[in-house]
Amino acid sequence: MTNETWGQVREELIKRVGKNNYVTWIEPLKLSVLKNGVARFEVPTIFFGDWVQRNYADHIRTQLASAGTPVDRVEFAVCAPTAAPAPVAARPVVKPARARATADDELPGAPLDARFTFDSFVVGKPNELAHAAARRVAEGGPTTFNPLFLYGGVGLGKTHLMHAIAHELQLRRPDLRVLYLSAEQFMYRFVQALRERQVMDFKELFRSVDVLMVDDVQFIAGKDSTQEEFFHTFNALVDQNKQIVISADRAPGEIKDLEERIKSRLQCGLVVDLHPTDYELRLGILQQKVDHYRSQYRGLVIADGVLEFLAHRITTNVRVLEGALTRLFAFASLVGREITLDLAQDCLADILRSSDRKLSIEEIQRKVAEHYNIRLSDMIGPKRLRTIARPRQVAMYLAKQLTPRSLPEIGRRFGGRDHTTIMHGVRKIEELMTTDSQLADDLQLLRRLLQG
Ligand code: ADP
Ligand code: MG
Repeated sequence: MTNETWGQVREELIKRVGKNNYVTWIEPLKLSVLKNGVARFEVPTIFFGDWVQRNYADHIRTQLASAGTPVDRVEFAVCAPTAAPAPVAARPVVKPARARATADDELPGAPLDARFTFDSFVVGKPNELAHAAARRVAEGGPTTFNPLFLYGGVGLGKTHLMHAIAHELQLRRPDLRVLYLSAEQFMYRFVQALRERQVMDFKELFRSVDVLMVDDVQFIAGKDSTQEEFFHTFNALVDQNKQIVISADRAPGEIKDLEERIKSRLQCGLVVDLHPTDYELRLGILQQKVDHYRSQYRGLVIADGVLEFLAHRITTNVRVLEGALTRLFAFASLVGREITLDLAQDCLADILRSSDRKLSIEEIQRKVAEHYNIRLSDMIGPKRLRTIARPRQVAMYLAKQLTPRSLPEIGRRFGGRDHTTIMHGVRKIEELMTTDSQLADDLQLLRRLLQG
């Protein structure tokens, strides 16, 4: 019965999404479950499911509803286990060195991602210090700074660097016991030990490692007994000259609800930050990924300028950048097309939209002032001279066009002018634009400069 409904719905969907999309995305779907307000479909890959979810789930829901089978949710699950990748199982787990390991002596570390090595880490200005420090620790020599504290925003490579250290140490110093885990896992282990009355074992275990790496330490802020335990573990290891590597999303001093003594302890070694990526680094990362993908997707062609476009437009974080490229490759290979700018724009519309740069009024004022060779202060100041008033109006116009700010808000940023003044300025430019081709050119250029 359900499959009958689905058959009907498919007929409708051909009309809605077009024959091509239908053949590519809808036809391969197999309805597996239809009950309790959920329609579940089998899909060949995770990517496929994501794609259909993003683009066609609403259509499917609408059509199911008009066929008399309304559902709350449409889900996609990868079907045949043969086709499913098993990345988790493929990852090695940090193990204590064989020589010293015993059966009940397994370190409670988190799995390492095999891809996160120094080889695959692209070094640029924003991360060179962090990279150099990580390399130093990975040599496994006498500790020169303790702890190494890495911090920076989401997706800038902290975890990657920590895993790289662990991989490298396993190679160079298999005699060392290296333990990597997240602060969350540290807490979880600790709570478990408390519950099972094995705190002594817990302490012993953590004090017996040679290198301890704790990722995302900001997590223990505000968790008092875990902090306490962490502090003691930390001190015990430092006293024995054992290397500690810590990461967090901000500098030690900026982590709220972290005890002062821990903050100051964390600052004792080397504190390095990973800066937001710049264009060159992003392009480098993309190029490296492409080289990697080439072996996976044969015959794939990327048009000139696509990588540059992505590096330019997706500035938020490396994870998003990589995700974009992965999606682009998967899509292009599925539909068997060359990767062009058009394809990228289509396929990544949502990502591109959300990482559009937030333009500030101040930036607009600066660029416009620069362009017309006037002072930034004149943008805000009272001068009524045409040579100053006109550029000011241009800036007002662009602020209205390119930012979501309201007229009163814009007025405030133009030296506290009234919103009617801003409206007048905007109208003036709109009017002139149609007759003054120089002005129209200026606007076009400025727009391009500002929107990148
Ligand atoms: P964080 O822990 O700082 O949030 P991750 O280390 O998890 O970030 O990095 C997010 C993703 O970006 C990972 O897939 C990682 O491999 C990648 N990445 C980040 N920085 C670089 C870099 N410099 N070179 C190559 N890949 C990077
Ligand atoms: Mg991380």
